[in-house]
This record gives sequence, structure tokens and C-alpha cells, in this order.
Amino acid sequence: MSAALPATDPALKILKTVWGYDAFRGVQAEIVETVAGGGNALVLMPTGGGKSLCYQVPSLLRPGVGIIVSPLIALMKDQVDTLRALGVRAAYLNSTLSPEGVREVEAALLSGELDLLYAAPERLLLPRTLDLLERAPVALFAVDEAHCVSQWGHDFRPEYQGLNVLPERFAHIPRLALTATADDRTRADILRVLGLHGAPQFISSFDRPNIQYRVAAKEGPKTQLLDFIRSEHAGDAGIVYCLSRKSVEDTAAWLQAQGVDAVAYHAGLSPRERNHAQDRFLNEEGLVVVATVAFGMGIDKPNVRFVAHLDLPKSMESYYQETGRAGRDGLASTAWMVYGLADVVNVRRMLAGSDAPEEVKRVEAGKLDALLTFCETAACRREVLLAYFGETFQGPCGNCDTCLNPPQVRDMTREAQMALSAAIRTGNRYGAAHLTDVLLGRATEKVVGMGHHTLPTFGVGAGHDEKVWRGVLRQLVSLGYLAAGEYHGLSATGKARALLKGETRLTLREDTLQPKAAKRERTR
Ligand code: ADP
Ligand code: ZN
Repeated sequence: MSAALPATDPALKILKTVWGYDAFRGVQAEIVETVAGGGNALVLMPTGGGKSLCYQVPSLLRPGVGIIVSPLIALMKDQVDTLRALGVRAAYLNSTLSPEGVREVEAALLSGELDLLYAAPERLLLPRTLDLLERAPVALFAVDEAHCVSQWGHDFRPEYQGLNVLPERFAHIPRLALTATADDRTRADILRVLGLHGAPQFISSFDRPNIQYRVAAKEGPKTQLLDFIRSEHAGDAGIVYCLSRKSVEDTAAWLQAQGVDAVAYHAGLSPRERNHAQDRFLNEEGLVVVATVAFGMGIDKPNVRFVAHLDLPKSMESYYQETGRAGRDGLASTAWMVYGLADVVNVRRMLAGSDAPEEVKRVEAGKLDALLTFCETAACRREVLLAYFGETFQGPCGNCDTCLNPPQVRDMTREAQMALSAAIRTGNRYGAAHLTDVLLGRATEKVVGMGHHTLPTFGVGAGHDEKVWRGVLRQLVSLGYLAAGEYHGLSATGKARALLKGETRLTLREDTLQPKAAKRERTR
């Protein structure tokens, strides 16, 4: 019988003696066994799930050096230093090394003096490096952030596609692809490029039960943020994401002025300033980093207590990855976001205006739609989030805003029809502010100048206040009944027809229609 005799299991022994851990987590043991035994595998595991050990332990178990392909050059040195401190013979090859540095690593590689070698893909794919690898004892290839092979993903790296040399030239060496984000399409690309068809796929649950998901309508974002931090996360470490450098700077300065220990981080700062912010974040207790998405990839701080979004991420994947930086230690944490009509319009326009091929744009628009559906949902957020990643979660979870404060939904078909006809009758080219004026019957200069005060739609919406109309318009854009065009003009889409004819009905969340009511929410 081979039933586990833990003390003699060589993988467990390494785990204990090198890392000091007593047991593998979840599927780690199975992955280690597969790869150590010479097999290939695809690993889909959320951030913080423990992917590193899946290739580090087999690299130590197998003869030869484990080659780790990673795009995160900035992190390689830290990773290698950490491993060396544990007594592992680790090194890296990337563009930051001097020519002598490269020669030293290459010599160590050839003479079998390394356990682990991290390499940037462009360095690995140099003919010189590939030739060396053919002469060196290689234990395995681990391709980290494997979703970078796919142009459907948000981190596409063309050099990753060159990794198809691995199955061609090193067919007999085990290959392990690891990623935290891969929908079906991306997964298919990974399997194809790395030649992993038929290999076992280890897919962990993406649920992060300790993260509480919350989304609210944007009113005064800075004040909302400050309220949130003061009432629930005073003195905690957190990340606040904003879209632009300017709003990063403004928000950080404002938080500081309010007595919150905050620092700005974006790509416009010097490397020195960025490193300083990053070091402070890692080493201090309760610092809030206000950042663009440039911040966080690969940052391993276990006790981030909240991630706040003042602007919409561009896809469900981005949202998941960014919020996933909260609560890696498993303790209660919050993913908090506010968003408004202008955000929806902005992100839609950014995607539409990019010079990506049409097909890519369509895929990206779909990913944004999924996020917007998540934002507007009245159902359990965790259910919606995990469903997007192909997981069936039996909710309600009891740890998201919609579970804790079930929102009232109201049939708003009539209001939606009014808003759509206001857009159509004014020529499908005015923004939300003007449409709201028309609906409310405000004879502004612009309304009168365009003759819109004579339209039958003028004033039909006077029964509701401006907030309701903003909410209706935002939800119509979010749900794809209105499209945002040039100069933020809103136009009715093909989808709108069924709604106008009354063939489909629309129920909208009451609390997002009247954001004031949402303010009473105090969830913990
Ligand atoms: P990922 O690469 O999936 O984001 P990491 O490999 O960086 O995750 O692991 C996240 C954290 O979990 C690390 O601090 C790591 O040391 C810890 N960890 C992973 N596996 C185990 C384990 N079996 N026992 C204890 N801690 C673990
Ligand atoms: Zn829930």
C-alpha cells in the first residue's frame, strides 16, 4: 500500500525543511506529484492561492534546474533573494543583469549548480539561451502568468507566443502553465501554445470567502471613500484604484489632508519614488496606496484589508485581480467600489476608441458588459462574479452588499421608455445632462435653442427627480440599451426596440436609482 506515510513523502519533507510548512494546500499536493513524476499540467488558481510551490517543490525534487518563465522582471530579484534566504540555489536571467552577471548565471546553469532559474521570456527565447538549455540539466519549465500568451487577455505579451518552442524543442521536459485568470478562450490558447492538450488541468475555486464585495452609486467619491475608511478601516492598509494619474494625486493629497496616511503611486513617478511607495506599503502597518492599475501586480502583502475602486476597472478579470489583492491572509476584508454614469460612458468610449482590431474590441466590450451586469445586479454578487469564471456558487453568500441589504427592485419599463425616446427624439446625440433636462422639463438655453421644449417628451419625467433619471440612464448604458458615442452623446441601440415596444420589461434597482437611500447601508 502506498497510502501516505507523510514523514517519508519526499515532497512533504522538502516543504517542511525548506519552507517550514506542514502541509500542502488544496490541489498543490496533486500538482506537485504530477509534475515531479514528469507530467505536464495546467494550473488555474486565484492570486494568493499558492502557485509558486507548485513548481518550486518539483524543481527541487527532480534532477536539474527548474526554469520559471515570468514577465514580472521587477519582481525576480526579490523572489530569488527570498529563495536564497531559504537555502535554495536560485538565480534569474533578464535585461537588468550585466554581461558578467549573465555569464555567471549561464555557467552555473551548465554546471548544474542551480535549483531554480527565473527568466524573462525574451531572454529565454534568445537562440543562445535555448542552445544552453539544450545542454543543461533541466527539471521542468514553469510558465507563470500563462494567460499572457492570449491576445484575448488584458496582459497579452507577444513574446509569450514564442514559447511554443518549448513543446517543440524540449518535448521530454515537463511543462507547467500557471495563471490566475483564464476564461475558456484564454485557456484554449495556453493549451495550444504550450502543447498541453490532454494534460491534467487543476482548477481551483475562485471564491475568496473572506472578501466582502460592495458596489455603490457614485455621489461624492472622495467623501464616500473617506466615510468608508473612517468607519470600517481606520488605520488599515489598503489600495485605492483610480483611472488617471491626476485623480490618483488628487485623492492621495486629499486623504492626507484628512489625516489618512496615504501615498500616491502611478507610472508617471520616477522609479525611485515608486519603489519608495512600494517599500513603505510592504513594511508599514496602515498605509493607504492610491494608485493606477500599474500598482499591485505581484505584490504579496498578506494583510491588505481593503481594495477600493473610485473608477470602474475595464473588465471582470481586472476587477477580480485587483480586488484579489485584499485579504490574502484569509481575514475579513472589503472590496469596495463606487461608480456612476460618467464612468460607464468613459470606459465604453475608451474601448471603442482604441486601435485594437474589431474582434478584440468586441471581446473587450463583452468583458466590460459582464462587469456592468455585476455592478447593477440585485442578486448575490459572489454568485454573479463566480458564474463569470464558470463556477456555480450556491448563494446567497451572506457576505456581499446585496446579501446583507437586499435591494428593492422596481419595474421601471415606463421610465426606461421615456429616457430612450428622449434620446431618439433629440437625434441620438446628446449626453445624460441634456436628456435629463428634457425629461424634467427644464427650459434651459440649450433645450430651447434646439427646440427640444416643443417635443412630446419634454417634461414627461417630472414625476421623478434628477437622481432617478441619472440612475435610469446609467443603467440603460450599463445594460446596453443606450450606447455612448462621441462627446458623450447617448444613442438608442438595436436592443432598445423591444423595450420601447413593451416586448421586454426592465426592472432596476431602487437603491441605485436613489443613491441617498444606499447611504444608510452600514454593512460589516
Ligand atoms: P500565488 O502565486 O498563487 O499568488 P503564492 O505562491 O505567492 O500565491 O502564495 C501565496 C502565499 O501563500 C505565500 O505567502 C505562500 O508562502 C503561502 N503558501 C502557499 N502554499 C502554502 C502552504 N502549503 N502552506 C502555507 N503557506 C502557503
Ligand atoms: Zn452575496
